[in-house]
Amino acid sequence: MSLDQKIVGYDLWQLALPVTTRRDHGIGSVEGACEIVVLRLTAEGGEVGFGEASPWVVFTGSVEASYAALDRYLRPVVIGQRVGDIPQIMAKARRAVAHCTEAKAALETALLDLAGRVSGVPVWALLGGKCRDTIPLSVSLANPDWEEEKDLLARITADGVGIVKVKVGFADHAFDVMRMEALARDYPDLKVRIDFNQGLEIEEAMQRVLDLAAFKPDFIEQPVRAHHFDIMAQLRAATNVPLLADESVFGPEDAKRAISEGIADGFSIKIMKSGGLRRAQEVARMAASAGLSAYGGDMFEAGLAHLAGAHMIAATPEITLGCEFYQAQYYLCEDILQDPFPSQGGVVTVPNGPGLGIKPDLAKLEHYAVRSSTS
Ligand code: MG
Repeated sequence: MSLDQKIVGYDLWQLALPVTTRRDHGIGSVEGACEIVVLRLTAEGGEVGFGEASPWVVFTGSVEASYAALDRYLRPVVIGQRVGDIPQIMAKARRAVAHCTEAKAALETALLDLAGRVSGVPVWALLGGKCRDTIPLSVSLANPDWEEEKDLLARITADGVGIVKVKVGFADHAFDVMRMEALARDYPDLKVRIDFNQGLEIEEAMQRVLDLAAFKPDFIEQPVRAHHFDIMAQLRAATNVPLLADESVFGPEDAKRAISEGIADGFSIKIMKSGGLRRAQEVARMAASAGLSAYGGDMFEAGLAHLAGAHMIAATPEITLGCEFYQAQYYLCEDILQDPFPSQGGVVTVPNGPGLGIKPDLAKLEHYAVRSSTS
């Protein structure tokens, strides 16, 4: 069957995936479960494609909004369309519902997975080809209990992980300084990055950023609220450590303004922010064209979204700072994929099979479903 065949099936599962610990990230926390939506598209010939929406309510939006967008507003622009008409379907999707970028990322992921499986090529080939076989993996340190965090540090370093991102700005400044000192003392070979996740108030931001910049991390990410472009520019001017914008830059439209206002030295690129894989590539290319770096960020995701991000980064040479697809292996009690997400030895290995290369386990989707809409 060709790419001309119609999409005839559209199934959804909203999942609550138990997580191992509490995690604090600047402006918000995750505890108990990671909430996502999984979409399955089916073509006339029976082939299927999967995508994941991974929202976080204080950052991109709610799981309820993702589910509603996919179930009510995006379903009509997909059913009956041809498998190969991905750009047209995504253009209709952007017009059908505002925002809901995670739902649009899930849709484009599922469309690319389906087209890849129908034509026998990996998603990275559909995105322009592969520029790297592996992606360096960063694991985030966000546990408010530092004693528990030491167990994770021992585990990831034993596994060969060489990069950590310390989530700061959610507790007092002394806690952040203590952890930076401990990492420098006990893990001198680790590459360390810092992410405030918008956690700082304007009046405290400059001093706290300069204090942590003294530890010479690889970069410092998003100290203040997304809309404070002016404060970001001031912080960037005051420190020699590269400043990354994450929450300030969702899609190409934000990237254009961020570049013109000089708010950052690099962008965290996420398919859940940009509303799809190709728009994420566009943000990375805009960054590179302006002399900025790009990092492969993620949300609280399961392995299905990690796969989409890995294929996107594999096909995007401008994203040079690695990725943070660690949740499937190090945060969820159990992932949803049939085979483990391929991260070992401190790198993510890009799959080469058709589509995303690995499918979700349907029994796990049913097991963790809070609600579903399947035929
Ligand atoms: Mg971030």
